[in-house]
Amino acid sequence: GHNRGEVVGPRSRDEFQRSLKITPGGSMRAAPFFAPHPPYAVSGAGCWITDADGSKVFDCENNFFSLVHGHAFPPVIEALHNVLDDGTAFGLPTTSETRLAEAITTRSPKLEQVRFTSSGTEAVMFAVKAARAIRGRPMIAKFEGAYHGAYDYVEVSLDSAPNNWGDSSPNSVLYASGTPPSTAADVLVLPYNEPKSCRELIRKHHERLAAILLDPVASRVGMVPIEADLREVIQDCCNRYGTLLVIDEVVSYRVGFHGAHATFGFEPDLVALGKIIGGGLPVGAVAGPASHMAIFDHTKGKPAVSHGGTFSANPLSMTAGLAALQAYTKDAVARLNQMGDTLRSEAIEQLRRRELPAQVTGMSSLFRLHLKAEVVRNYRTSFPSALQKAALAKVHRAMLERGFLMTPNCSGALSTPMSETDIQDLAAALVDAVQEVWKQSP
Ligand code: PMP
Repeated sequence: GHNRGEVVGPRSRDEFQRSLKITPGGSMRAAPFFAPHPPYAVSGAGCWITDADGSKVFDCENNFFSLVHGHAFPPVIEALHNVLDDGTAFGLPTTSETRLAEAITTRSPKLEQVRFTSSGTEAVMFAVKAARAIRGRPMIAKFEGAYHGAYDYVEVSLDSAPNNWGDSSPNSVLYASGTPPSTAADVLVLPYNEPKSCRELIRKHHERLAAILLDPVASRVGMVPIEADLREVIQDCCNRYGTLLVIDEVVSYRVGFHGAHATFGFEPDLVALGKIIGGGLPVGAVAGPASHMAIFDHTKGKPAVSHGGTFSANPLSMTAGLAALQAYTKDAVARLNQMGDTLRSEAIEQLRRRELPAQVTGMSSLFRLHLKAEVVRNYRTSFPSALQKAALAKVHRAMLERGFLMTPNCSGALSTPMSETDIQDLAAALVDAVQEVWKQSP
């Protein structure tokens, strides 16, 4: 049932023209944008999205990896129907927040307590504020190129490039022109999978350093799992200098039943969560040991870190999230991870056999295509040349023509409704699309 040919139909085109008048860029959905504009989604079921012109695409984007069970997952929809008639949000606590928090703490014993937010951006922001407050130090460290949401400090070096990224000690490059320049002084940028320089940089700055923020499979850093040497250096430096380890699992929580920190053997001080724990509704969370989480306790006067939020822990997000997590069982995680392994090894093997300069990185159910032969280990080695960048956009489009939706930088996440056959089709289409594009522009 894959559609071929036109990827954006006339209804989507008309809607985009209409929308251009009332919103800059024609849509707030900036991350999925590709020229001239993406199709408008109308409905989704399982792995499929139907657009405004009635075309169907097989969805590997899954709302930026947040839909681990695909679209309109029946247990989530049923749970939502059961609570919808009772109202959508209250200026009072509800039992739904306790139930989802219990589900998270039961899966991950190192996460003893939880505070919910409405997005991953807020979760990271509150984790960083908490770390600074707990340690009484101003600076945070993050890895070059890593995305952690739209908080000024964690955006530093997000899209640094050869003309401004500096030598082996990465520069703290401001991301947005609206960011105060002083922000950069309190952000230490570390080179991913370069353990020796990381140790040196952390040693040099440890007296001011409150926390190291780490996503162990960061997409924009190349989507390569953290190597064992760096893992040891980070954990060792945190123990030695009292620097807090803040793990961003907004995406990587899905890699293991107990969360990414458990998969990689970290002792996290704080963890930021989001995406799949909301079952497809807006969500984020900060979690960690009770001793650290006490920084948010608001019952004894003004807390060290004030955290509220009109829609934090709203019952719809909590209910959907609980249904999604309950269905993401150990068996479901194992099956999805196995399919991810199959996808990457199949694609890599076929690319090698056809002698195409391309590789697929990722872990568990996450994947990302790189159109280069050089081994991708971090942000700098993953950084695409202008030619590779243009070719990636063409592969993204060639995949849409074959009926497969990925993110515009050619990454994706699998979902539990996918079958083994779907994975074989996806791998074959990806290799085919790469071949078609490299044939045009070698
Ligand atoms: N951290 C990571 C690793 C992410 O990928 C994202 C979102 N893509 C965020 C944080 C921010 O989450 P949100 O979009 O929900 O604010």
